[in-house]
Amino acid sequence: MEPARRKRINRYKQFIVISFLALTCIPCFVSIFLLGKVNKLEKEITLIAREHTVEQLELLSGSSLEQEMNEEALSGVLSTDIKDNQEEKQVYLTFDDGPSEQTDEILDILKEHNVKATFFVIGKTDAESKRIYKRIVEEGHTLGMHSYTHDYQKIYASQEAFEQDVTKLSDLLYDTTGVRPKYYRFPGGSSNTVSRVPVKNLIQYLNEEGITYYDWNALNGDAVTKEISCAQLNRNILKDVRRYNVSIVLMHDLVQRHNTVKALPSLIKQLKKEGYELLPISDSTPVIQHVKLK
Ligand SMILES: [Zn+2]
Repeated sequence: MEPARRKRINRYKQFIVISFLALTCIPCFVSIFLLGKVNKLEKEITLIAREHTVEQLELLSGSSLEQEMNEEALSGVLSTDIKDNQEEKQVYLTFDDGPSEQTDEILDILKEHNVKATFFVIGKTDAESKRIYKRIVEEGHTLGMHSYTHDYQKIYASQEAFEQDVTKLSDLLYDTTGVRPKYYRFPGGSSNTVSRVPVKNLIQYLNEEGITYYDWNALNGDAVTKEISCAQLNRNILKDVRRYNVSIVLMHDLVQRHNTVKALPSLIKQLKKEGYELLPISDSTPVIQHVKLK
């Protein structure tokens, strides 16, 4: 073969090898680089989401369960001005939105650890739910109200609608358990922005009926998303609880929030280890309220 031709063939060979390497290696490096970037950004997003929950939630509106629950989370995040001077360290665990298919599991865990809590329930008339209302009372927990329908648009449509809803749930719980409920948690909290009636008027009505309402000053964030890990749920609670002598902890009794149940045993153990007394809401529980009547 003549040298000029061989040279040309070698150049082609070189060109092919370099092109092949470039076409395979460059996308590989770019992919690895981008993957690293994505991971880093994801971590940043999680941090920012946690720090700016309020701003995020303010953008949300509507009436789906998810969004309603975000309202509750928002109210909790805003409740940073509550201080107390009590000596004892008390924690009141509260579960909203039940009964659900996992209420028994929560009750079993509480029983195993000899802890009493508070359940702010909604209205359900099936036999299974009625059995759960009874079990809550029989096992020494506090059965509180969280509205019959949990439908913000209906409950907060008028003073009359609110009063009817409270009465309906109170009667259902009384007829089922023989105990008239004395405690209430507003869906979305008392500082919700959904009510078309001034919340003070609703509080006034509850007071006249001898019902005390409770908001919260600690929460695990299970209302925001179901993706939060058990460890993170408990970290969120402990961070809040350590700021007060008396904490009312907001959690949700919903099948979609199973991590809350899975995290419960270790939460109880940690709270006990840190010297907190775990109690059900009673007449001697300091009120934690976002909206005061006076
Ligand atoms: Zn709720």
